[in-house]
Amino acid sequence: MNDDDPGRSAADDRRAELAANLASVEERITRACEAAGRARKEVTLVVVTKTYPAGDVRLLSELGVRHVAENRDQEAAPKAADCADLSLTWHFVGQLQTNKVRSVAGYAHYVHSVDRLRLVNSLSAAAVRQGRELGCLIQVGLDAGTSGAGPRGGAAPDRVAHLADAVAQAQGLRLEGLMTVAPLAGPYAGRPRDAFERLREISTGLQAAHPAATMVSAGMSADLEEAVAVGATHVRVGSAVLGDRPRLR
Ligand SMILES: *Cc1c(COP(=O)(O)O)cnc(C)c1O
Repeated sequence: MNDDDPGRSAADDRRAELAANLASVEERITRACEAAGRARKEVTLVVVTKTYPAGDVRLLSELGVRHVAENRDQEAAPKAADCADLSLTWHFVGQLQTNKVRSVAGYAHYVHSVDRLRLVNSLSAAAVRQGRELGCLIQVGLDAGTSGAGPRGGAAPDRVAHLADAVAQAQGLRLEGLMTVAPLAGPYAGRPRDAFERLREISTGLQAAHPAATMVSAGMSADLEEAVAVGATHVRVGSAVLGDRPRLR
């Protein structure tokens, strides 16, 4: 950065920082694809912009980012409205309460965190009411027990088929695939690659019944290589592009 240049604004500096970060993430994805014998175009970068302002989303859009993600409706709704002119694809990746569904259904194109039947029903009702179609991913909680949700959200693996059938049959919803977050606890703690491989297995089973449900959303800043190695189609990258967040959420 050139601090001496009076014509250089804070936005210029931020743009340069985002461009450099994006380039390095792009290179990581490209290398991971090469190592796995996959084509680069098989993996979509979704940039997680939570805690960062709409101005950053705008800069990212100018830098060629097409997919952005948020995890809290309170923050996402105004940001999406602010950036409505950019024709971005918005992904909702956070735990979703039913009282936020109506709002999320207004701007999200994909919801990665579908993990219970009640959510399927309210997403469907909201999508139909607003004349929208939502792409849905079942979030798999690999830290969960054999039933019930894990602490970071997500359906237990043995619930996936049932939830997927419900999404596939629901009006206004499209079953797109599966999502997971590398577990911090349980048998997969500290073993993201094994967790993502398990997700991939569950995805293969799901695609036998639902061939179009091909999205595998896995991998974040710390573990995107592991995810790409075992077949992720979408990586959700926040801090490696935007910088470290002040607090973990
Ligand atoms: C925040 C978040 C990410 C991105 O995490 P980074 O470590 O910042 O890349 C991905 N997925 C979900 C569900 C998130 O909440």
